[in-house]
Formats: sequence, C-alpha cells, structure tokens
Amino acid sequence: MIQTLGGITVSKYQVLLYYLYVPIEDPEEFAKEHLELCKSFNLKGRVLVAKEGINGTLSGLTENTQRYMDYMHADERFKDIFFKIDPADEQAFKKMFVRPRPELVSLKLEDDINPLELTGNYLSPQEFKEAILDEDTIVIDARNDYEYDLGHFRGAVRPDIRTFRELPQWIRDNKEKFMDKRVVTYCTGGIRCEKFSGWLVREGFNDVGQLHGGIATYGRDPEVQGELWDGKMYVFDERISVPINHVDPVIVGVDWFDGTPCERYVNCGNPECNRQILCSEENEAKYVRGCSHDCRIHERNRYITENDITPEEWIKRIHDLGEEFDVERMETVQ
Ligand SMILES: [Zn+2]
Repeated sequence: MIQTLGGITVSKYQVLLYYLYVPIEDPEEFAKEHLELCKSFNLKGRVLVAKEGINGTLSGLTENTQRYMDYMHADERFKDIFFKIDPADEQAFKKMFVRPRPELVSLKLEDDINPLELTGNYLSPQEFKEAILDEDTIVIDARNDYEYDLGHFRGAVRPDIRTFRELPQWIRDNKEKFMDKRVVTYCTGGIRCEKFSGWLVREGFNDVGQLHGGIATYGRDPEVQGELWDGKMYVFDERISVPINHVDPVIVGVDWFDGTPCERYVNCGNPECNRQILCSEENEAKYVRGCSHDCRIHERNRYITENDITPEEWIKRIHDLGEEFDVERMETVQ
C-alpha cells in the first residue's frame, strides 16, 4: 500500500531512476563489484556503466533503496547523483543487471559529445512550462516513437524516427525548420538530453535548452504538477507507464488497429519485429498480436504459441480479417 501521511509518501517499495556523467575508470570491473552490491541490498533493475558515467533504474524495499542511495552518495564520484524516487507496491523488475557499455547513450555520432564539456541550458520545470507556452520555442521530444505515442508534452515535435539514435540525422534533414528558433528538448530522466542538447549546440543552434531531470522530475514538481503533459510516461520497467499530469490528465494513446483511446502496450508477436504497439486485449486476440499481415502469419508468432492457438483457429482469425493465409504457409503450419 502506498500511503500519504502528513504530505510524506510512505511505501513498502521504491523505484529509483538516476544518472551521472562522471569519469569511471574501469567499467568492466566496476560493473562486477556493483552487481554484488545491488544483490546484497536485494535490489532489482538495470544499471549501465561506461567510461563516461553511470545510469540506473532500480527497485527494492524502501530501506534497501535508501541504503543504496546512502552508499552511492558516500562515494566522492557519485555524491552529486540526484535520485528520482517513485513509491511502489512491489519490485518493478524481475532481475538485476549491471552492464558495462561503450557509452551511456548512443546517438551514433562520429564524434561523441561529452555533456560535462558541452550541453544545453538546464531548464527547471517552471521554466520548461513557460517554454512550452512560448510560440517562438520549438519543443522536441528526444525519445523513441513508441514513447511519444503513449504520452508527450502538448504540441511537442514528434521526430519521424523509430529510435533516439536516428535523431541527429532527422534534425539535419529538417534543420531549416528549427535553425532560427529557440529549441528545447526533453526525455524521461534527462540523460538523453544532456548529450542531444550538447550536440544541437555543436550543430550551430544558438539557443538550446533541456528539461533538467526530465519528465520524471516535471511530474513530481509541486509547482507545475505535470501540467501540459498529455497521456502517460513510458518507463522501462514492469510498470510500463506512469502518470505525470496531476492537473488535467487525458489519454492520447490510440489503439494500433482501430484508433480508439488506449494505453495498453504489447510487443508485436513476431519476434523479428517486436515493435511496441498500443492495443486492447480484444484487438490483440483478433489480430493475433501482429502489427502487420506478415507479422500475424509469421511462423514464430509468440501469440500463437503462448495461447495454444490451433492452426485451424489461426487461419480462421486471419481470414476473419479479410486477409489471406497463403497455401504454402498453411502447409508449414499444419
Ligand atoms: Zn510486427
């Protein structure tokens, strides 16, 4: 149970989200030791370690997440980490990973950005809210497309890309639209924008801002209370989505198949596609969780195996959609 007592939220579990760009000498060795540390506190989640810093999202019993934060803050390198904390009823992850990586955030740049040397101006939630309302400011969502589709800031630009990595190229292709404007960017916790906004500055944009602490901080800010955020925020744990706007929340997600309001995510049943789509339970069954015809009839469609759908039933559902289950494929299924 999550309870609020005298303005203080008390919960059995907590979910932490944090990052810090700080030099870490031996990420491989660090990762091994850090995994043991996390396990000793019975934490679950994912921590990425690179020479450029650390990025983690963890869940655990409240007292254990507190011990972890104290431990990190006692380390000179990590004393400046700002932990975003969500109350929770249970663990938000099933397993615990600590992984060394070549970089924390990949923008596929020929020449990487070090946010400690170059990054956009930090905007507080209140400053960011004013930027959204300012007609001469362009607000760019620096996340993946499926994250935007579940929720985003009102009027924010949705780059026509599937993943964050493609963002620099998309900006270059659309540069003339933004070049003379003030540009502000946002992402979940702020880590992606540290690099992306620095890159924008290097590209020649002269007025670049970033939402400090990301959407997660904006939703928790007592002043703005998530206002001007529409939909929910996608999170990379078992919760999948969390509320942000505590003033006038609306649903913006739409069902992949019929366009009705929807906030339920599934991965396409075709393991080679795996696209994240929003859809109701009903449409998931109707379309056997396939985002396209080819995915629906894919021989390894996970919806079919997970639900023990017989070949006859599979073929029937495809035909009910007015689609053909070609004869050759039918033979491999039967
Ligand atoms: Zn698919």
